[in-house]
Amino acid sequence: MKFTPLKVFVFTSILFGQNYEYSKNSPLSILSTIEPKQRKIISIINKFNPLWVDSLKLILPCKDIPVPRRTMRLPNAPRTYRNGTHRGIDFFANWGTPVHSVAKGVVVRADHNYKEVPANFRVNMLKASEKVGNTPSDIFNNILLGKAVFLDHGFDLIKGFRVITIYAHLSYIEDYIQPGYKISGGEIIGKSGNTGMRESTIGSKAGSHLHWEMILQKDREEIYLGKDVPNPELYEMLKNIFN
Ligand SMILES: [Zn+2]
Repeated sequence: MKFTPLKVFVFTSILFGQNYEYSKNSPLSILSTIEPKQRKIISIINKFNPLWVDSLKLILPCKDIPVPRRTMRLPNAPRTYRNGTHRGIDFFANWGTPVHSVAKGVVVRADHNYKEVPANFRVNMLKASEKVGNTPSDIFNNILLGKAVFLDHGFDLIKGFRVITIYAHLSYIEDYIQPGYKISGGEIIGKSGNTGMRESTIGSKAGSHLHWEMILQKDREEIYLGKDVPNPELYEMLKNIFN
């Protein structure tokens, strides 16, 4: 709280028992009309700036599986089945491929007890997405990611941002991957799979891949790595990060 002369006046008035009137045109009523405008913060991260990750170097989550070139496997790709937009990278990893952390961090979510949702339930949830016009965050986080691990990289990776990475559709998570576990870069998290996908709900292993994403947070806002960066600039940026 800032002690402006006005606030000091109000405070001392209350303190010394004066009957301070909160009427129209009183300093307090004027303040109450000014403050909401002052509190309005201007969005500074609605556009991703490739310069933020200019010197960022990460370890490939699946050994020898490079960043895919195809726009449909990269951030910003439309995902019509859920009325949403892809926020991450789909690495071509067959079922059971070891998945590694891309950098050191702390485990914040590890779905050891994930149980695949019934096929009909998943279909109905996607119908709900259709009605909303985008993918609601609860449906995305609790159903579509499947068995997932989230890592918190603090403010170490990208200057000025808290960074988290997400590893989704896993078939297996290592026992030691528990919330609070300090993971080093390149350490094994688990194995790839297709949990959270339609195929998994009907008992098939088809479509397995690693969905990986990075979220940058700052000032009550967040943005995914590469948001609105056009391809092939996007591919070159990602390739450079994982080089
Ligand atoms: Zn994906």
